[in-house]
Amino acid sequence: MNHDQQNIMVILSSPSGVGKTTITKKIQQKYQSFKISVSHTTRLPRSNEVDGVDYNFVSKEEFKSLINKKSFYEYAKIFENYYGTSKKNVDKTLSKNDIIFDIDWQGTKQLSKFKELNFVKIFLITNSKDELKNRLIKRNQNTKTEVEKRSNSFEEDIKHWNDYDYIIINDNLDVCFKQIENIILNEKKAYSNFAQIIQ
Ligand code: ADP
Ligand code: 5GP
Repeated sequence: MNHDQQNIMVILSSPSGVGKTTITKKIQQKYQSFKISVSHTTRLPRSNEVDGVDYNFVSKEEFKSLINKKSFYEYAKIFENYYGTSKKNVDKTLSKNDIIFDIDWQGTKQLSKFKELNFVKIFLITNSKDELKNRLIKRNQNTKTEVEKRSNSFEEDIKHWNDYDYIIINDNLDVCFKQIENIILNEKKAYSNFAQIIQ
């Protein structure tokens, strides 16, 4: 994974339903330089999702074949489905853009093994498990069983907060967005200054 010193790599993780997708889309809308890493997944598309935009939706056979070909920087099994970050997609984006990875804690651990790379790692949480469940229900994109599974993963997911640089509570969406925006703009400024010094 090679990247221009002036471009930053942000990892945004959270228990499912906290608000990662909402926030990454807001960042991408406001800042043209930021691109979202489009993962591969074996789960079925939701009614509002577009293949190639929200995810690359593939069969389990296709995903396994990509694992065998070592096509992923990282992948994980989450709620009975596979999710992975394709090397090809990331390399294409990274050469000229800042990038945001919306991945779970397992993927974050795998990417952290690239010691030569600097990731800005942000972990989002809700202020309670009940609030997470409310959001999953309100999102209306998961069955009752899936909502239970996702909200029950709250405790396991938050055990990994220590792997992250920043922990943010997504209570008020505008406040949370502003906090993340400040973090990434500061990091970008620091990278840019550093790149000028070492030139
Ligand atoms: P994730 O990508 O982490 O699974 P989403 O971005 O899909 O989560 O958000 C889950 C639901 O919560 C969506 O319906 C979204 O509109 C809503 N949501 C996001 N942030 C907030 C917030 N701060 N307060 C209330 N609802 C929120
Ligand atoms: P969802 O099914 O709600 O879109 O995503 C479920 C979980 O999978 C979320 O925590 C999301 O961050 C994670 N995820 C999405 N893409 C990837 C990926 O490429 N790798 C890993 N490790 N996790 C991912």
